[in-house]
Amino acid sequence: MENGHNFQEVSNPKYDCLLFDIDDTLYPLNSGMSAHTARNIEEYMLQKLGMEAEKVPELCNSLYKTYGTTMAGLRAIGYDFDYDDFHSSVHGRLPYSLLKPDPVLKGILQSLPCRKLGFTNADTGHAIRVLKRLGLEDCFERIISFDTLNSSDDIRPPDDKNGEEIFDFCEYTRRPDSGMVLPKTPVICKPFDNAFEKAFKLADIDPQRTLFFDDSIRNLMTAKRLGLHTVAVGTSVRSTGVDHALESIHNIREAFPELWEADEKNEIVNYKVAIETTVKA
Ligand SMILES: [Mg+2]
Repeated sequence: MENGHNFQEVSNPKYDCLLFDIDDTLYPLNSGMSAHTARNIEEYMLQKLGMEAEKVPELCNSLYKTYGTTMAGLRAIGYDFDYDDFHSSVHGRLPYSLLKPDPVLKGILQSLPCRKLGFTNADTGHAIRVLKRLGLEDCFERIISFDTLNSSDDIRPPDDKNGEEIFDFCEYTRRPDSGMVLPKTPVICKPFDNAFEKAFKLADIDPQRTLFFDDSIRNLMTAKRLGLHTVAVGTSVRSTGVDHALESIHNIREAFPELWEADEKNEIVNYKVAIETTVKA
């Protein structure tokens, strides 16, 4: 009877996969990386897209809120630019030296007996540079990034935009009842359902058995609606859509001891089986 009980717990742990956002989740917000990213995006809008300086900060922020990322919004309203050029201008110039190796987090991740994946709106190159700086490059099965979600097959040339005017997003936000139709973006990114659904399919993730860690409440809200168990990182506040809140990613062990218990019980069962086999032999 006791063995039967053990077997049930070992074979059916609540979670078999951990899905992690990267920026401001695997390292703290006060690293300064976020502020540098925002500054680089604004510079790109100003210098490469030739936008008016006084409009840039507000537009950058409203496009981010509406389309998930500013880049997704810029493409939606009609700007034509190369994704790789955007990423190298925005992420390629970041001061990665702000990030320091995190051996404590590395120890936690390496000891976790379940799948671990990264899930970011940034490009793969940025994700790898961040993980290398943190010393976590060997801790994840795979990273689902902008490049994964927006494969070259999905990136269509802006052929239907040629000759069209840029959609006046400022006018749209000023006069929401004007009847202007908000254009769609070709970019797939969090916090939208299609990004999560694509990630589940590509990485064979069962949301019901997955813990999702992110610092963004809107990402967590979508995740919760789609069946993931959600963990807000960098806060102690459990708002709507948040199952758990961790002030620091370092608190995983205290918050979820059961993630390790499954493995410990497995070891005990294996040990028992080994002893019984030896005795019978
Ligand atoms: Mg983040």
